[in-house]
Amino acid sequence: HTTAPALELRDVSARYGETTVLRDVSLTVRPGRVTALIGPNGAGKTTSLRVASGLLAPSEGQVLVDGADVTRTAPHRRAGLGLCHIPEGRGIYRNLTVRENLAMMASRGAVEEGIEKAAAAFPVLGNRLGQKAGTLSGGEQQMLALCAAHLRRPHLVLVDEPSLGLAPIVVDLVFEFLETLKAEGIALLLVDQYALRSLKVADTAYVLRRGRIAYSGDAAPLLDGNMFEQYIGEG
Ligand code: ATP
Repeated sequence: HTTAPALELRDVSARYGETTVLRDVSLTVRPGRVTALIGPNGAGKTTSLRVASGLLAPSEGQVLVDGADVTRTAPHRRAGLGLCHIPEGRGIYRNLTVRENLAMMASRGAVEEGIEKAAAAFPVLGNRLGQKAGTLSGGEQQMLALCAAHLRRPHLVLVDEPSLGLAPIVVDLVFEFLETLKAEGIALLLVDQYALRSLKVADTAYVLRRGRIAYSGDAAPLLDGNMFEQYIGEG
């Protein structure tokens, strides 16, 4: 008797108009584990996350959350099942302040605690609580998106390029934050440009190439120089 995967894509194909961008993609995110999805630009990483969260319907195949078929379930209902999708550089309310964004996501009574936690993880956010989110830098908006997502207490988070455009020191904070989510038992499907760092946090890895899975398995073997070169090196 095993627990159902937090997320499963089964033989998924997806297309934009006439162009097929995912072919027979199968992947599994186990509860409480970190799964890295790696691949060159245009390989279909973002599209895979969109299919998982329901923003794009697959042309073939199924999507399962906690073992239940959600292929035809609307995105907001999947969110209600504990799935949280943080799209690349978005997922926040630009016209609300940082504090208001966090307050909206925190459960009642936990607002101050949520804000304190966010400020502890990302001090720069703590200094900008009264500022409109839309006026933050791209990197600050991504930090806010991560904190806001955390406050919704999801059990599965899909993160698209959380470190895009961030200064190296802030990238460290982002990866520390992802480790925190992992330590809390939240399952993560992580797409990030820093393949090496993603693999170090991840338990499982998938490499996508031109819409197909080129590698699936434990993340650790890909850290080996030859394997890394073969699957990730030049894409
Ligand atoms: P990147 O890191 O560049 O975002 P990716 O692996 O996330 O790459 P996707 O964004 O999933 O790749 O894109 C996969 C393919 O689908 C690419 O060839 C891209 O040009 C194409 N594509 C993406 N979005 C659309 C769209 N809305 N309409 C048409 N084609 C699209």
